[in-house]
Amino acid sequence: MRWAPISKPCELSARPNLGDYEQARAEFDWATARSQLSGLPGGRGLNIAHEAVDRHAAGVRAQATALRCVDKQDQVTEIDYAELRDQTGKFANVLREHGVQRGERVFTLLGRVPALYTAALGTLKADCVLAPLFSAFGPQPVFDRLRIGGGAVLVTTYRLYRNKIRQLRSALPDLRHVFLVGEPTAEPGTTDLADALAHADPAFDIPSTSLEDWALLHFTSGTTGAPKGAVHVHEAVVAHHTTAAQALDLRPDDVFWCTADPGWVTGTSYGIIAPLTHGATVVSDEGEFDARRWYHVLAEQRVTVWYTAPTALRMLMRHGPELASRYDLSALRYIASVGEPLNPEVVVWGQEVLGLPVHDNWWQTETGAIMISNYPSEEIRPGSMGRPVPGIDAALLERGEDGRALVHGGEVRELTGADVEGELALRPGWPSMFRGYLHDEARYAASFAGGWYLTGDIAARDADGYYWFVGRADDVIKSAGHLVGPFEVESALMEHPAVAEAGVIGKPDPMAGELVKAFVSLRPGHAPSEELRTELLAFGRRQLGAVAPKELTFDDDLPHTRSGKVMRRLLKARELGLPEGDLSTLEKAR
Ligand code: ATP
Ligand code: MG
Repeated sequence: MRWAPISKPCELSARPNLGDYEQARAEFDWATARSQLSGLPGGRGLNIAHEAVDRHAAGVRAQATALRCVDKQDQVTEIDYAELRDQTGKFANVLREHGVQRGERVFTLLGRVPALYTAALGTLKADCVLAPLFSAFGPQPVFDRLRIGGGAVLVTTYRLYRNKIRQLRSALPDLRHVFLVGEPTAEPGTTDLADALAHADPAFDIPSTSLEDWALLHFTSGTTGAPKGAVHVHEAVVAHHTTAAQALDLRPDDVFWCTADPGWVTGTSYGIIAPLTHGATVVSDEGEFDARRWYHVLAEQRVTVWYTAPTALRMLMRHGPELASRYDLSALRYIASVGEPLNPEVVVWGQEVLGLPVHDNWWQTETGAIMISNYPSEEIRPGSMGRPVPGIDAALLERGEDGRALVHGGEVRELTGADVEGELALRPGWPSMFRGYLHDEARYAASFAGGWYLTGDIAARDADGYYWFVGRADDVIKSAGHLVGPFEVESALMEHPAVAEAGVIGKPDPMAGELVKAFVSLRPGHAPSEELRTELLAFGRRQLGAVAPKELTFDDDLPHTRSGKVMRRLLKARELGLPEGDLSTLEKAR
């Protein structure tokens, strides 16, 4: 099925700071983008926390709400920019008083509580490297990441410390300080954070920070294998700031909610840094992954811009329009999605049920910020990730036998023209580009060829320059001579009213090479049956022809990564009886 483009009301295209896409691209340059940030006083470089906090605390937005943290009981803690400056200053002073030097790694293992935000930004102020971990990780993944990252400091709670770290602490010689948030305890080898903060000076003079000083250490989602540690530097803030305007339409008066946990790159780049650099209000919520909860927070907090993920939107869709109609979503004006392919039916559903289309955008842990996006003032093409944001050059490269870009004598071939498909590549040089994989220089070096950064994703491009996600290079299925990405098959299945979500893999087959196999979860009111299976397979054949699934299994508990992606490699490993691989980022059944 072809989906009609969704055009925007004209007042959007009249946005004074954005203009139309072509014009914005033509006029954009990174030096001008950088000049929109203030830099440290006295020309002492650029520091993320200064741009996010101190410069607003010193200006007209000092009393504006920077953070609005909602806890599970709906208690709200509000912190304005001036207070956030003081609290982050205290945290930075606590680090110094404990002998923590610039460049050392500070890990956080916390839920979405106010202390997480002050520790994160205080770490950046002190020019230490922030490594945020997702609090639901088990002991082993926490240990591995602390060890690989050489964490000098950990900020966590007593409960998390006791359950996940205490017994492995002696094997972490680099870990000198553990600060505990919450009820004071007499746990040996730890320091009560509130106690330390109580004596600390709120005034902290941010040291000169160079553009290349390390700022963030982020582990990838582990969708395709063991997570990799990607390093980002302070210059990244230039891209955080500009892309938030270009792709999320963010303005200073917005109430912005990003559902991603700060343990993932989305949750720091856009859940903390980018909206604060605009002086906006950041909403964070400790509540569950649940459709009712999301509607509740959107309505109660009068959220204006919502940044979420396809799996969350599919869950809203599964609950139908009736649930949506019970909440007052009138404040909401912009929705964006990232992390995995956004099925076109979700975009159209947003327009029909929420009155707002969903803007898909694409990026990776490695890219640090949004690279390809449905632009605020331009029409949306459902199923497309959009076009490269101003300042970003993308290309599609010819692929070789192994599915990756064909590198010949160090060179690659760029595919030009309309309706081509190849490995998605980006021209290096944007500020939030990762500067390395920790302890894996060879892998980093192998990510570049012929002057391009190779993303490992396959995409197609239409005549107007919109990019369409096909699959990950190692995910693309070759069936009886046809190539198909799992996303296309999943999206086709989702057009059937019984299907809530699908995960598709290629299964080795002596005849076809690979055959397409689908795992499907159903919407409420539908139950697995042989009849439905036959119907869905026939439906798939009508939609997809030769690349339709030949096998289909009902699975009401599709495995997801904790960042919300269907874990196809696990579906495949289970199907083939192979080792399940690194499961540290697997979301437990929900
Ligand atoms: P790992 O690298 O450890 O296997 P990961 O690639 O899932 O995990 P992330 O950096 O969190 O880790 O995710 C980036 C990837 O997510 C992209 O390379 C792409 O495959 C997918 N992705 C992100 N946004 C989109 C999107 N809008 N549409 C399709 N795919 C997307
Ligand atoms: Mg990846």
